[in-house]
Amino acid sequence: MNILVINCGSSSLKFQLIDAHSEQLIAKGLCERIGIEGSQITYAPAGGKKLETVTPMKDHTDAIRLVLDALTGKESGVVKNLDEIGAVGHRIVHGGESFAASTVITDEVIEAIESCNDLAPLHNPANLIGIEACRKLMPETPMVAVFDTAFHQTMPEEAYLYGIPYEYYEKYKVRRYGFHGTSHSYVSRQAAGLLGKDYEDLKLIVCHLGNGASVSAVKNGKCVDTSMGLTPLEGLIMGTRSGDLDPAIIEFLCKKEEKSVGEILGELNKKSGVLGLSGGFSSDFRDLEAEFHKDSEFAVRTMKAFAYRVAKYIGAYTAAMNGVDAVCFTAGLGENSGFIREKICAYLGYLGITLDPEANGVRGQELDITTPESRTRVLVIPTNEELAIARETYALVK
Ligand code: AMP
Repeated sequence: MNILVINCGSSSLKFQLIDAHSEQLIAKGLCERIGIEGSQITYAPAGGKKLETVTPMKDHTDAIRLVLDALTGKESGVVKNLDEIGAVGHRIVHGGESFAASTVITDEVIEAIESCNDLAPLHNPANLIGIEACRKLMPETPMVAVFDTAFHQTMPEEAYLYGIPYEYYEKYKVRRYGFHGTSHSYVSRQAAGLLGKDYEDLKLIVCHLGNGASVSAVKNGKCVDTSMGLTPLEGLIMGTRSGDLDPAIIEFLCKKEEKSVGEILGELNKKSGVLGLSGGFSSDFRDLEAEFHKDSEFAVRTMKAFAYRVAKYIGAYTAAMNGVDAVCFTAGLGENSGFIREKICAYLGYLGITLDPEANGVRGQELDITTPESRTRVLVIPTNEELAIARETYALVK
């Protein structure tokens, strides 16, 4: 069965068509500037030529129509007609406490997702528009919602509660939810496969280090803690997000800079993290890494702070699980930068970790990068959120 995976943002839409049996990618692409002048669709059949077409898309229904036309097109289409798309899997950012697992989309499910819009006002409404557009164009095709938050719903109360008046949890559900759940779930399962151990028998720490970054603790196949919170702003220092900070800083800066809470929060989301710490140099770790090697002071302090924060979380989660069998690195930076993995692992001597420098230099494959003597394993596992969404979708509709 072919599964269409849709990741819908407010003005963009990423898609992949995946064969659920072979788990091979059939085609993928991206619609950009939906509803804005100059909208464009990029479409690439696997092994074929990438096509970029500038064409008007007044809304997401137009965008999905163009995606379906591309997939079924005479020239570079990959399926004969829409009947060859067995199901659609939608990435949904926030499922609140309503969804601890992926679910087949019904009217009730859509209502429940809408009720989480408050918790992810930028993302959930856009995700819902994608669902509505697909339902309009493919009314008979089953659809599944796969939530970024669902994998973390197994966290115990002591991990998800904040130390604030309990009534805020009762009234507004203010608590830790966590994000990147599809990636943490996929990577932790793959890690068990790579280790040749039972998933339910392992203590794993997954470091998803990309432009957005989060760490999770996975004990016996269940997430027991994660670094992102009510929103994706908490936790690690990220590309442009601050991660953890003293909440009193917000009022302090509002007064000093005569800015509103909204303005300061905007800065914490878009101008902080690696970008902010480097004095506005770049949010891209590749740029910072290059400058680190030139001993640029701003790059040295930024990379050190980034690695230190990751190492601190690994220490905390080792304590939370009373041990760890493997630390897993994934996402843009985690998969590609042996440099940052080494910097982080330099803090982990107490876990008896010894990296194999040659293995740490390899890119793009699942690999154990420790020596045979290492007491704790360190794994690189390329994440594949689209494949994880396709697997979840297939499991629910087959
Ligand atoms: P993601 O959000 O997972 O797509 O990751 C994007 C980030 O990964 C980029 O901002 C880069 O900073 C980082 N990245 C990607 N490739 C490399 C690389 N070869 N070395 C260092 N960082 C990289």
